[in-house]
Amino acid sequence: MFKTKNFNESIYHKDFKKDIHPRGILSAEIVGAMPKVDLHQHIDGSLRPKTIIELAEKDGIVLPYDDEESLKLFFHRGAHRGSLSLYLEGFGITTSVLQTPESLFRAAFEVIEDNCRDGVVYSELRFAPVLHIEKGLSQEEVVEAVIEGLENAGKKFNCSWGLIICAMRHRKDSLETAQLAVKFRDRGAVGFDLAGEEAGYPAKEHIEAFNYCKKANFNITVHAGEAFGVDSIWQALQYCGAHRIGHGTKLVEDMSITPEGNVIKIGKVASYVLDHRIPLEVCLSSNIQTGAAESYEKHPFRHFHDMEYRVFLNTDNTLMSDTSMSGEFLKAVGHYGLTMKDLEKLTVNAMKSAFLPYRQRNYIIYNVIKPGYKEIRKALLEN
Ligand SMILES: [Zn+2]
Repeated sequence: MFKTKNFNESIYHKDFKKDIHPRGILSAEIVGAMPKVDLHQHIDGSLRPKTIIELAEKDGIVLPYDDEESLKLFFHRGAHRGSLSLYLEGFGITTSVLQTPESLFRAAFEVIEDNCRDGVVYSELRFAPVLHIEKGLSQEEVVEAVIEGLENAGKKFNCSWGLIICAMRHRKDSLETAQLAVKFRDRGAVGFDLAGEEAGYPAKEHIEAFNYCKKANFNITVHAGEAFGVDSIWQALQYCGAHRIGHGTKLVEDMSITPEGNVIKIGKVASYVLDHRIPLEVCLSSNIQTGAAESYEKHPFRHFHDMEYRVFLNTDNTLMSDTSMSGEFLKAVGHYGLTMKDLEKLTVNAMKSAFLPYRQRNYIIYNVIKPGYKEIRKALLEN
């Protein structure tokens, strides 16, 4: 039997700061050059303000602001109100300008372009096709347009990508969405997700969609434990068969933590996630903005990382959350003292958890990520 004392000393008290890299500094430039992986990013939450303005003009849509800076601030302020429902409001605007094949192509293309320029070597992007059929496109046409954008950008900027198709929690058509995702599996659709307002819309109500994915041997991730408690994570795992958890922030409710901030005991769900190496798609900025976590210091990421959960960082929405993968890395460096070795570990964790086939994941880990970090270390030692 595990004794609490040993448990504490051996696993939970590892010092982040022990592993300072040669220079002890991680500048924005160094972090920008590091190979990164983002597995949790919404296309409709990652548009460039300039693109929104141009698309709105073309479609005759009136925006709250028509200059880039004000529009950008509008989205950031709108997101940072301590509530998931308020955070989600901005998506009404971004989805309104994404109702044609051209606009969907452009949005998908530019997200890959922005990610590649930020050093993201593999992007797993997601969106809900059902939110883009207001002007008469079929959901198939919507997915086609997005895949074309991703394919073109992937080739042009030499970056890998995968597409996750989201169903919405508040709707009743998740089975249709699951079928759509599976239909596009040979074109780059790698997974199925359930997104949207969590409280009041339990994942288990979409059981048919999940069963369909399971029977098709398809990958599943579920937004859970963001706005709602640990029960939401349990449902995602044990009812829906989730292979990964989107956010998982409230898993902390299944941990006993001392006032000094040390984890002394974990419950059954937290143990299951740890023991089964269930990947946790953590989005720091977004969690602070929606109030899923009170502050960076109180965010459970540091416990997840310290206890060696299969955890990694993601942007969620680069527009709404005013961030990038480099931005998330720099926040983790600033708030938790992460080193280059830690960031490499998070990146490898993410790539191991990607919904690409095993051999492709390995290829990216051993031929792109590890050599990339090695090169940066070498350059730092030489300078
Ligand atoms: Zn999300």
